[in-house]
Formats: sequence, structure tokens, C-alpha cells
Amino acid sequence: MTIPTHQRTLEQSVSCSGIGLHSGKKVNLVLKPAPINHGIKFVRKDLPDNPTIPARFNCVVDTSLATVIGLDGAIVSTIEHLMACLAGLSIDNAIVEIDSYEVPVMDGSAGPFTRMILDAGILEQKAARHFFVLKKPIELEQDGKFVGVYPDTTFKITCNIKFEHHLIRRQSYSIEVVDHIFEREISSARTFGFLQEVEYMKRYGLARGGSLDNAVVIDKSSILNEEGLRYQDEFVRHKLLDCIGDFSLLGMPIIGHIVTKKTGHAFNHAFLKKFFSKKTCWETQTLPFHPDPARKTLKSLAI
Ligand SMILES: [Zn+2]
Repeated sequence: MTIPTHQRTLEQSVSCSGIGLHSGKKVNLVLKPAPINHGIKFVRKDLPDNPTIPARFNCVVDTSLATVIGLDGAIVSTIEHLMACLAGLSIDNAIVEIDSYEVPVMDGSAGPFTRMILDAGILEQKAARHFFVLKKPIELEQDGKFVGVYPDTTFKITCNIKFEHHLIRRQSYSIEVVDHIFEREISSARTFGFLQEVEYMKRYGLARGGSLDNAVVIDKSSILNEEGLRYQDEFVRHKLLDCIGDFSLLGMPIIGHIVTKKTGHAFNHAFLKKFFSKKTCWETQTLPFHPDPARKTLKSLAI
């Protein structure tokens, strides 16, 4: 298995429509190819002058229910599943045009976005990808929540969750994040919620678009979705999907092993700030797709 060494974008534009999970509003989304070193940027087509918001951790303005980015008053909410999809498929550069403030929830997973991008095709660009390569561990722990990143030869994530519910309990899942593994094992895992929480949110005007069509909903004894689960451990796989999306907001892929316990968007975001401040623990480098003696230490990364 190999990590792409060159930057990638979409071969052509592709679009979809859906509703926002929290707003319940219909929204149209267009994904477009973007040039080298552009990164992922959202464009609000419904606002005057079409403001652009980079998908970067320093533009995150809220993480309470979803990951929300904003710049100069314009926001885009619930970006995490689309971001996970772009990172999981190693797409470095893309323009995301949207005509509302919330990314469509689709089926609650990254599956529809993944199929859409694979149908559009992925284009390798003539420039090296830049990576955060871990040199020393970075860890953050608080109130039983934990995130750590450790030196490794590839990009791995291990997620651990624990819920006091007999259908979940403790679950752990670990993957190396490369295209086909993301597509096969992670992209279709749906978001989930407990019935009493969903009812509570709806009472306060949240999760207006939420339904059994876009989330796994659990009551005290069972899963309410007739079709059941897509994977027996779909819950932890979805948490891993969320982590891929949240970590992609660093703006560059990581060569390292991310380990999380009982984390969520807010704690992941707190970790990203710590990660960025610990500049002695990582270096930004390209992978050695052409011989360069100065990058000898990275030879082992050609997995
Ligand atoms: Zn999620």
C-alpha cells in the first residue's frame, strides 16, 4: 500500500443535493477541481460576493454539534463528513461551492460523497504533497478523553469508544488511511444518536433534518433503523470517519499514528491547536518520490 506522493484533485466537477442535518434546509453542493497548493476551500454561492472559507483549523468557529468554519461572518457548518471523504481519498485541492450554510447530510455517512468523487475521477497533479511527519509524540488528555499522535511510517488512526449502552459498550478500530480501505471500511459508516438526545435537540430546533434516513438512532433497547447496522461496529467506524475529517483541518496529511479515546469534534479541535503549537514534534516534508540525500530518513516511508 502506498500513500500518494503527488497532490491530487478531481478530474471534473460533480454535484449533489440534500438537506442540512441541523437546518433541515435543501442545499446544493458542487465539487470542483482546484490548482496545486490551493487546499480545500468552501465558497458560499448564496451570499453577496461569494465569500471563500478555507477548511483550516484556524477558521473553526464552533464544534459543539458539528464542525463549523467561518471567516468574516460567513460560515459553513457540518463539514466533517465531506472533509473525511476528501482526506480519505487523498484529495488535496478542491473548491466546494454551496448555496446554504450547511453541507448536506446525505445518508449520514461519507459514502455518497465518496462514490461521487470516484465517479468524477481523481487527477494526480505535477507537484509534491507536503506532509506533517511526526518526530515525537504529542498527547492531550482531559476528563477521560484522549488524543495522541505518534511517529509511524504511514498514516494510521486507531479510535476507541465507550458508551454505557449494551449495543455499543467498548469498541476499537484501527486502519491505515489509504483510498480503498477508506472507501470499503469507513466511508459508509453513518452518524448515530440516542433517541432521547435526538428528541431533545428537535425540541430546541436542532437536528431538523435528522431522520432514520441519515442517522442510526438507538433507544434504550434497540436500533430503530429497520435495516439495522451496515457494520457490526458501525459506531466506532463513524467516530474514526469524524476523526479523519477533523484532522484534515490541519491542511496537510499526517505521517503518524493517531490514537483517540472517547473523543469528539471539540476535543479533536483542541488537540489540533496543541499539535500546531508543538513545532519541535513534527516536520513538514515531501515523500521521496525523487532521490534526495537530505531526505534519507524518509526512505522507509515508501511502503
Ligand atoms: Zn459524524
